Amino acid sequence: MEAYIEISYLVASLSFVFGLKMMGHPDSARKGNLLAAVGMFLAILLTVFLYQKNGHGLHNYAWIFTAIVIGTVLGAVSAKKVDMKAMPQMVSLFNGMGGACAAVISVVEFTYNEGLKTGSLMSTTALVILLGTIIGSISFSGSMIAFGKLQGYKAIEKPVTFPGQFFVNNLFLLASIVLGVMVMMKSNQAEASMLFYALFGTALLYGILFVLPIGGADMPVVISLLNSFTGMAAAFAGFLYGNKVMLTGGILVGSAGTILTVVMCKAMNRSLANVIFGGFGTASGEAAAGGAGGVYKEISPSDAAMLLKYSSKVVIVPGYGLAVAQAQHAIHEMDKLLEAEGVEVKYAIHPVAGRMPGHMNVLLAEADVPYPKLCEMDDINPDFPSTDVVIVVGANDVVNPAAKRDKSSPIYGMPILEAEEAKNIIVLKRGRGAGYAGIENELFFNDKTKMLFGNAKDTITQLVSEIKSV
Ligand code: NDP
Repeated sequence: MEAYIEISYLVASLSFVFGLKMMGHPDSARKGNLLAAVGMFLAILLTVFLYQKNGHGLHNYAWIFTAIVIGTVLGAVSAKKVDMKAMPQMVSLFNGMGGACAAVISVVEFTYNEGLKTGSLMSTTALVILLGTIIGSISFSGSMIAFGKLQGYKAIEKPVTFPGQFFVNNLFLLASIVLGVMVMMKSNQAEASMLFYALFGTALLYGILFVLPIGGADMPVVISLLNSFTGMAAAFAGFLYGNKVMLTGGILVGSAGTILTVVMCKAMNRSLANVIFGGFGTASGEAAAGGAGGVYKEISPSDAAMLLKYSSKVVIVPGYGLAVAQAQHAIHEMDKLLEAEGVEVKYAIHPVAGRMPGHMNVLLAEADVPYPKLCEMDDINPDFPSTDVVIVVGANDVVNPAAKRDKSSPIYGMPILEAEEAKNIIVLKRGRGAGYAGIENELFFNDKTKMLFGNAKDTITQLVSEIKSV
């Protein structure tokens, strides 16, 4: 029986690994997700029916299956109904639940673990329980605050700051660690329990305090960091139960979250410390003058349509404004019209365009834009000099040349899409609104640039009818 379980756990673990690999490409992503989900279902069934711990199998089947059914229905319905723009907060909520589970497992183990009741607390098991409690709790409470910020709850939406915050926050983290050491040094379980619950409390509070000062728009980076915490906490729980599939799943989530955090920070040219303590991304409204400035040159929809229709190569740069305007279907319609006229149309995708990883890919996939038309930054950048028209749709920071030239700019060093190299540039935005970094963009004042003001969906719809009538 033991070998049979081990082999099945191996199959489930492999399904996670291959599922994750398949999620790396849009064509296979759905199948990858399904494969990993089947693996997870297998792991749950095996654990419920066959898992033996200290000679005892599981029981309470009614409770277990009621919880599984409620969780499955809630998860499936909310994932189905969620609005695309609300995806980051949904990920945050689900991640928080993972952190809570890992923390609860550690709390239950601390209370009921036979080895800890009779043996010394200076043990690997106790250490793993304490780490699982601290990390899982931080992940849970931090994710809940991130969810609240993204959901737009007034009291916490903006960065919440106060004097001495850095010191106070780290005091709570330090307190959790010191309490953990004190727990391990106790020989009496009753005394250790009081310290343990204090540690549970300080870790939960640290999670709240850690996320409160961070700007709402930086949340995707924070969520991905918290995601790696959840993975680690789950891996600790897997270690506790000697459950290899849980250990593998936790390690995969932990490392994927860490890699994504690093990749996002790199693409924004910011350190993780700057994301956490920088208060970046809190600017709103008009762009702050930063060297660039001048007079906008406007273009009418009919002139823009003419320019586009008689081009041979057009590159579309989508940004956050495309998501705000929900203009993905309209832009695809325009792209199909131009292609029917013999124009080559491609989309240039910046890794941090929008407000969540893969935001543009997901939006454009929703509008059925064929995946091969989406080009990554490094692949499309050499194409700009030979592009007749680049059409920037609600993008700002990702095409801002200040990232290359202005050492004092907050985005200096961030790799950008070289839209300024194109022969003609048309920018679709509503007005003088700043991008996420809150700075002016000299591209908008470039001699080759023409502005087409208005909500992107409306202006693209106008362009579509003009192209049809030209
Ligand atoms: P930006 O936020 O820089 O700019 C968006 C622009 O869209 C604004 O200038 C705004 O101007 C315009 N806009 C907004 N609504 C509309 C609308 N309805 N119609 C037309 N235009 C509109 O977006 P980018 O995608 O260029 O850059 C993303 C930024 O977000 C980067 O700085 C990145 O570092 C950051 N970020 C990205 C994350 C990710 O995971 N992708 C995570 C965290 C941060 P106006 O108001 O005048 O219309």
